[in-house]
Amino acid sequence: MLEADLQKVTEGSIAVVQRGTCTFGDKYKTAAAKGAKALVIVNNAPGDWKGGTLGLDDGASIAVVGVAQDAPIADGQDLTLTVDAKTQKAKTWNVLAETEKGDDANVQMVGAHLDGVTEGPGINDNGTGSAAVLETAAKLGAGADVKNKVRFALWGAEEEGLVGSEHYVSSLSEEQASKITRYLNFDMLGSPNGGYFTFDGDGSSKLDGGAGPAGSGVIEQVFRNYFAWRNVPVEASAFDGRSDYGPFKDVGIASGGADTGADGKKTEAQQRQWGGTVGEIYDPNYHSPRDTIDNVNRDIYRVAIGAVGFSTAYFAAL
Ligand SMILES: [Zn+2]
Repeated sequence: MLEADLQKVTEGSIAVVQRGTCTFGDKYKTAAAKGAKALVIVNNAPGDWKGGTLGLDDGASIAVVGVAQDAPIADGQDLTLTVDAKTQKAKTWNVLAETEKGDDANVQMVGAHLDGVTEGPGINDNGTGSAAVLETAAKLGAGADVKNKVRFALWGAEEEGLVGSEHYVSSLSEEQASKITRYLNFDMLGSPNGGYFTFDGDGSSKLDGGAGPAGSGVIEQVFRNYFAWRNVPVEASAFDGRSDYGPFKDVGIASGGADTGADGKKTEAQQRQWGGTVGEIYDPNYHSPRDTIDNVNRDIYRVAIGAVGFSTAYFAAL
């Protein structure tokens, strides 16, 4: 059953829908609102699939399961679903640190998620981003003579649905939020088959998600300038809300960041400009046990890590 077909779900049925297009949470909400008893999401790509998030604060009222693409499910077929599940509460932390000096009505935030998926060690996703943010913070130092205050954030539980950044942003008063001028996000900086991406802040690349909040175009341009200086081509990526910039963008804080690619496939044109393998995803170890330190692309990381220091320094002094 396709996305639009969720509208046809009848009371008491088990809804079956493909993965992709809208979020698991949106699929769930539609199915639950239509009175489905359960929702089965069928993978849209071959291979293993574990994990996923509904992004809900209050839990799900119907069972939601994910199955492999080749699961033997046909349209209109009788389906019985038995779910053996357990729920667990876990504690998680955000780690925040900021410079002593700098205008505190003009805060520049720099962040990365510190957690990883349970399926693997999470080194490219996101040891690379959090290490780069930590090193930038350590090099800048608490007493740095910055014009604008710089606040670093290492987020908890991004992989569970942006839980850490969402909690942080939603706990800000309106006044506190208004003092954050921009947020820079770094998630996956050493993808084995990667390239260089920065969010389409000005919307000029016409990608899903559109432009970022006012000021996001400037952030995009700063990252473009950095990669131009390093002599590597950079492409715009969609503001699809799949990392911790999402909650900032949602409340209108200018956002941006750089990354080296996740589960998108490398095109021929990208192979010509960056090298790597056409048709393979940017990080073939994405969310798997193979996301180890040996599988970080150090050449790519060496270039991408500089984008963190460059943008942080630029906006600290702007
Ligand atoms: Zn990540």
